[in-house]
Amino acid sequence: MQTTNKTETKLSTLKTHLTQINDLEAAASLLYWDQATYMPPGGASARGRQLATLQAISHTKFTDPSVGQLLEDLRSYEETLPYDSDEASLIRVTRRKYERAVWVPASFMAQLSRHRAEAYEFWVKARSENNFALVQPYLEKTLEMSCELASFFPGYEHIADPLIDFADYGMKTSFLRTLFAELRQQLVPIVEAITAQPTADNSCLHQFYPENRQLEFTIKLIKQLGYDFQRGRQDQTHHPFMINFSTGDVRITTRVYENELGQALFSTIHEMGHALYEQGINSDFEGTPLAGGTSSGIHESQSRLWENLVGRSRSFWQFFYPQLQAFFPTQLKDVSLDKFYRAINKVGRTLIRTDSDEVTYNLHVMLRFDLELQMLEGSLEVKDLPEAWRERYRHDLGIVPETDSEGVLQDVHWYSGQIGGMFQCYTLGNLISAQFFEAAVEEHPEIITKIEQGNFYTLHNWLKEKIYQHGCKYTAAELIRGVTGDTLRIAPFIRYIKQKYGQLYQL
Ligand code: ZN
Repeated sequence: MQTTNKTETKLSTLKTHLTQINDLEAAASLLYWDQATYMPPGGASARGRQLATLQAISHTKFTDPSVGQLLEDLRSYEETLPYDSDEASLIRVTRRKYERAVWVPASFMAQLSRHRAEAYEFWVKARSENNFALVQPYLEKTLEMSCELASFFPGYEHIADPLIDFADYGMKTSFLRTLFAELRQQLVPIVEAITAQPTADNSCLHQFYPENRQLEFTIKLIKQLGYDFQRGRQDQTHHPFMINFSTGDVRITTRVYENELGQALFSTIHEMGHALYEQGINSDFEGTPLAGGTSSGIHESQSRLWENLVGRSRSFWQFFYPQLQAFFPTQLKDVSLDKFYRAINKVGRTLIRTDSDEVTYNLHVMLRFDLELQMLEGSLEVKDLPEAWRERYRHDLGIVPETDSEGVLQDVHWYSGQIGGMFQCYTLGNLISAQFFEAAVEEHPEIITKIEQGNFYTLHNWLKEKIYQHGCKYTAAELIRGVTGDTLRIAPFIRYIKQKYGQLYQL
């Protein structure tokens, strides 16, 4: 009896400690949300300092040796519990995060966060002035620090592995290389067949659509899709994101371009997909490390599932297009559903990853992944990166950026302080989204007709039950196995692309 009581006390001490850390992190997140939405420019430097202070306190609290001791003391108790019990999962996931956090010296983390802020600032300037040289020394330092960060995790197979592990736990470079090579091989002929045809006309999306009407429509849309406004809200920002402070407060942001309807529509649905995941997590996990998506790839699978497999489908617009037309009668009264559907699924060889279509998107991602590996391996120097970028675009997409702003400077990722592990999640997300959606439709074939009727409950409930509620109890690999009975596969994504675009482009 005494042992049980002792164990209970230790578990409750651990939980209390973790909740305090969670609260500090939530406070930091709220400061960040404010910074990205409503904060006046004058708040910037103090806000940076405030965020750093909160992050340092929560890092110190989490890496306290007493946490390691509690986890060690609870090991034998954990071994008596079923693997997927809430308590065993809490101890296991906390231990994984703790070990990762203590391996990196606090002094390095502080140095890295200072460097991150500086590199970001120079990237903003370099991008607006189209001047890679301005940010080159910072990127060189980032590469050096990324290698150093990886070196704190001994025994890796490839130097990128520990960096990939931060975002997509359990994924390895060797696995991803093989997966991506196969995907590229299957995608390239599809892209060639589509781009050999006349390009789709998407001019209907590029008329004037007033900002307030667009915002109203996105809110109406996501309410019907199942986003809970009692536990969330939508605001505007430059680079849309989802952020949560608890399972009861999961916010999204969007951006509106008055001459480009697709921006607000699809970035809203995308971020809502991330938010449905977080809103669907078991509320018993509140305040613990289990309350969050399990990996970047799985998170991205949820946003892409709603954005693309649902939000860019014909079934979806069969239901919503009359509502959209009623919102924008002058712009859309003469545009048929078919024309609109083709417009939102226009495929083309383009330069900007975030604006690219479903078919070419992964080519953008995979070339970044390869360039990251080359830099980490030492076979590509930062000074040669812009040329390597142009070469890969010429080779993979048959198009070359005229400026670095439209090329190597377009994405924030490398300039926000890390090279390695930054891009794989997007392609993983696309692949997993198709694999999950296929599994959902196989189990509930009526999902498609329900979507046509504007009923999203069947799909949403399936996702809640199979994926959302578990938070990060299961790893990505365990979740994929549990949901689909299989490992990660390329085939469902290729089947989806061939079926949809085969119809659109009469392939
Ligand atoms: Zn996303």
